[in-house]
Amino acid sequence: MINKLLIANRGEIACRIARSAREMGIATLAIASAADEEALHVRSCDEVVHLGGHNPAESYLRRDAIIAAALEHGADAVHPGYGFLSEDPEFAQAVQEAGLLWVGPPAEAIRAMGLKDAAKALMQKVGVPIVPGYHGEAQSLQVLQQAATEIGYPVLIKAVAGGGGKGMRRVDRPEEFAAHLASAQSEAQGAFGNARVLIEKFIANPRHIEIQIFGDGQTAVHLYERDCSLQRRHQKVIEEAPAPHMPHAVRNEMGQAAVRAAEAIGYVSAGTVEFIVDGSASLREDSFYFMEMNTRLQVEHPVTEEILGIDLVAWQLQVAAGGVLPLTQDQIQAQGHSIEARLYAEDSDQGFLPSIGQLHHLKFGPGLRVEAGVTQGGQVTPYYDPMIAKLIATGPDRASALQRLLRGLQLTQIAGLKTNRDFLVALLQHQDFVAGRFDTGLIARDMEALTRAPAPAAEDWARAALCAMGLLDTGRDRQCNVGFTLFTPLRQSVALRHKDQLQTLQVSLRPGGRAVVDVAGETVELGLGDLPQRAAVLAAGKAYLFGAQTFVFDVIDPLERTATVHSDGAITAPMPGLVKQVFVHAGQEVAAGDPIVVLEAMKMQHTLCADHAGRVENLSATQDQQVEAGMALAVIQAEREEAG
Ligand code: ADP
Ligand code: ADP
Ligand code: MG
Repeated sequence: MINKLLIANRGEIACRIARSAREMGIATLAIASAADEEALHVRSCDEVVHLGGHNPAESYLRRDAIIAAALEHGADAVHPGYGFLSEDPEFAQAVQEAGLLWVGPPAEAIRAMGLKDAAKALMQKVGVPIVPGYHGEAQSLQVLQQAATEIGYPVLIKAVAGGGGKGMRRVDRPEEFAAHLASAQSEAQGAFGNARVLIEKFIANPRHIEIQIFGDGQTAVHLYERDCSLQRRHQKVIEEAPAPHMPHAVRNEMGQAAVRAAEAIGYVSAGTVEFIVDGSASLREDSFYFMEMNTRLQVEHPVTEEILGIDLVAWQLQVAAGGVLPLTQDQIQAQGHSIEARLYAEDSDQGFLPSIGQLHHLKFGPGLRVEAGVTQGGQVTPYYDPMIAKLIATGPDRASALQRLLRGLQLTQIAGLKTNRDFLVALLQHQDFVAGRFDTGLIARDMEALTRAPAPAAEDWARAALCAMGLLDTGRDRQCNVGFTLFTPLRQSVALRHKDQLQTLQVSLRPGGRAVVDVAGETVELGLGDLPQRAAVLAAGKAYLFGAQTFVFDVIDPLERTATVHSDGAITAPMPGLVKQVFVHAGQEVAAGDPIVVLEAMKMQHTLCADHAGRVENLSATQDQQVEAGMALAVIQAEREEAG
């Protein structure tokens, strides 16, 4: 029996583990870094130990401090979640030596699967098919290159200590081998402190299909498969169970191979055996190969729980406390279909860089199982993985699960940060994905189309203008047809910027709650009480329109605009900040209202505009420049002075 569980992790997985523990009557102890003092996972647990620090090395990776906290607070078990210390055999061992239960596999099992080369050798021995390739000791360029030639191009160079797609390079031609090898080795050395690599045949049209397994040290069972082929740079984006078009016989073969792998290492707890499958033809019993085993709970475990109706974390806790497997292989029956999408704070316009900041507004769509580590008002910090939530939809079949996930995502609203929501929405509508005919190359092949962002239509500009005036904010907990008050001027001009397009819109309010908006000469009439086609949210100086596509407009405050322009035409920085964009060059003629510079301060962007027409002179602002408050960035020399 476990009485109190220390959860050695953060974010959504810590919240997820706390939920199962609570349902089982187990008390929970959180750990938190300084950056996470008020995080959701802390609030989801009964007690917390503050470790201080921000980076993982100063917090979630402090093995001794975590074990000491467990002992001091009377915890009797430790669950590592995924990532961080979950696959660290020394930590697993130290936990047990301290007299605590380890909710995971034995240190020996983690070690056996820790390095991909040793794992492949072991799997070969117990008759699990492995990807043809070289996983020997010798690491000279000559040996590796020779191996690649024998395997036949294209090949994959993989760091033996790799994870998360790091230290991996595909090589298509022999003449590129040496350069790719050097870069894979240096990335592996940097990320894992181990430069060793193996060489594998690159499987054509690869599908990533993995088997969830579970062991109690005596026997192991398999819990069906997950298809995780939708990947960006070898990182999973969408996962589903079961795999589309999976023949029964192939599932059985793969499941049995995975069970052999688990039993070969006396596996305890949840684990995943990852296979790469040749997807160039239909799935066959001889076309799957062992890739690696992850000796922990996996990010995408919820889709398995959904189709089997089981709680994998509860199983982990029962087995860690000495229990046997709750079900036999025959009793494990799947029903329906489940799909998960990983919602990240990232900027798809800028190579999916993490987007850091506050979640001013966060509302998930209906019909979803949401596994989140943050709530509205929370922060995404630069210290950890920028995942906002995992969204999971389940239905009696794939089409209905897909429809539910798509609708749920389309009705998900996030303001304050850039997210991959629109990318996920596009991905779920990709015709090959919809048909269930896809491989790991789908995203890279169609990246352009998947990230293409249409420009807002006149109606979107009009809606954004009303939202900027506070007349259409559907995000607040009030009726959206607020109409307008006595204090709302009947005519108003609103300046908005979308990407580098700036427009000043004229809004006229009419009786009966109607608004007429002039958008660059085009007239759009809207009813404030109309059911919005697009939800609108005003947050932190931006107007957000949500729908199939998210549009974000900077609302340019007219007061701020004039405050920063002096009588001599100088535009000065109203606050210290970073120059994000310079719209003009020296000598350029500008009109009143034209944007000159975007300044970022306190994580908000401010557009500084010309308040009169003229020529740009003394332009000192340059992109990415840090500027002080009051610093002159440019001077707009009025036309008439020049004429005179
Ligand atoms: P794999 O791609 O090998 O199957 P997963 O998809 O299960 O791995 O992702 C595990 C990864 O999640 C870890 O390697 C790590 O980068 C990341 N991670 C670790 N801890 C957390 C956390 N608390 N929240 C979100 N992501 C995390
Ligand atoms: P990691 O430890 O980084 O998760 P994996 O060995 O699991 O590394 O590989 C990550 C991904 O790379 C796989 O999900 C798959 O998309 C791709 N991949 C790996 N091995 C091969 C291969 N031999 N042929 C084609 N693609 C592969
Ligand atoms: Mg992997």
